[in-house]
Amino acid sequence: MIRVLDTTLRDGEQTPGVSLTPDEKLQIAKALDRLGVDVIEAGFPITSKGEQEGVRLVAKAGLRAEVCGLARAEKLDIDTAASCGVSSVHVFLASSDIHLEHKLHMSREEMLKKCAEAVRYAKSLGMKVEFSAEDATRTDLEFFKQVVRAVSDAGIDRFDIPDTVGTATPEKITTYVNAARSVSQVMISMHCHNDYGLAVANSIAGVLAGAGQAHLTINGIGERAGNTSLEEFVVACHNLYGLTTGINPQLLFETSRIVSRLTGVVVQPNKAIVGENAFGHESGIHTHGILSNPFTYEPFDPSDVGRTRWLQAGKHAGRHGVAAQLRGMGLRPKEEHLRLIVDKVKELGDLGHTITDGDLYQIATSIMGGGYAESRLVELEGLEVVTGIKRLPTATVKLLVRGHLHEATDVGTGPVDAALNAIEKIFSNLETIRLTDYKLEALSGSSDAVADVTVKVEDDSGNYASGRGMKKDIVVASVEAIVASINALLAKKADSTPVPAGVAQDRELQSSSGV
Ligand code: MN
Repeated sequence: MIRVLDTTLRDGEQTPGVSLTPDEKLQIAKALDRLGVDVIEAGFPITSKGEQEGVRLVAKAGLRAEVCGLARAEKLDIDTAASCGVSSVHVFLASSDIHLEHKLHMSREEMLKKCAEAVRYAKSLGMKVEFSAEDATRTDLEFFKQVVRAVSDAGIDRFDIPDTVGTATPEKITTYVNAARSVSQVMISMHCHNDYGLAVANSIAGVLAGAGQAHLTINGIGERAGNTSLEEFVVACHNLYGLTTGINPQLLFETSRIVSRLTGVVVQPNKAIVGENAFGHESGIHTHGILSNPFTYEPFDPSDVGRTRWLQAGKHAGRHGVAAQLRGMGLRPKEEHLRLIVDKVKELGDLGHTITDGDLYQIATSIMGGGYAESRLVELEGLEVVTGIKRLPTATVKLLVRGHLHEATDVGTGPVDAALNAIEKIFSNLETIRLTDYKLEALSGSSDAVADVTVKVEDDSGNYASGRGMKKDIVVASVEAIVASINALLAKKADSTPVPAGVAQDRELQSSSGV
């Protein structure tokens, strides 16, 4: 069983532009604990008072995981970490000649002495000690062994090999792990960076060579190109190498979302495991294959990692995929209608349009006609916005939801935010619906440009739907996009259940006006 040290709250927080409040640290730490990490590196206490408060909050939260604090090989750093109540301290001192000469101005002999002293001091305070030879992979191999020996003799519990600037290869990592193991019995840990995109491969090489622990971050966040991505490492270990960890993979997506939301670092859509597109399919050939047997075009079942597969209509779409997507919305078009729907989808796809769920729902229901065209569950009944300098932007939204009129007023950082808050307010009493994505494009360079707004909404069960609004008024376009996506989401949730009667008090089609 490979131990997982999660450093999202330390190296992850060193991502440029990321700064977490103590309470945000605690929220993430709780999510990591649920996920099943063995160690939470909660921060670098010496850096600030707020950091100390955050680390202290995490250390005192009664979590199952070991809570660790980072410290330079200095008494004050170690004391500060200890004062936060952590059960282990991660002490580091660089061992490469470039760091010794140009950063520390220290000889190799001084380094050996200093790291052993620091380890002995930390041990004397009753904490577990993990020692990192910073920039280990650019350290002379013979000297590296001397460092491992020195800190092992001083009583460390774990020895970490950081590939600080991400320049190692899997072969090189194997060499360093073997070297460390040739001179010490302590558990070896891997800390890899992704500067060449090799962090996961390097960490796996480390554990295959005998390292018992890996330093990982959620979504791979961290300094520069980031650290080894926890979700990628864990799933590859489990599925491809038959290695086990204490991580519950089904919580990976949820944890990824929490970290992305609190750090503000968006996950790239094509990211393995947790990226939006990781289990999405558009091409007709792929969706056809997926529908007859998902393993034709999927590496494993998305639900293994807490996700759901989705199909997207577009110019590459085929009849099977579109029909399946519509079935998911409770629509079963006749063959001749399906053909027309697919033609329309391809026509729009050829024009470069993304077909949102709301668009597809709109296209299908208008082609299918009959009662379908009036089956939208949510209608925009009214929208008023007040904004200006020196006043809080305020919006009042009226929605007809399943035939009942709801009205809410809310404020926001701007008129769009205020309108979206008002909509969320209406739905907070009805359903759990959250806005997860908002994208705005102006379709020409002038001030009367058409605003093209695409949004994504999500419910608590992980269902989501996209929608679009196109209007010259950016607030109206935003609200229409939300309404379109909520309609598609509710249709998905209702699935094949009959559309409730009495919802159809339609006027002109107000949403998805772009199609
Ligand atoms: Mn690092």
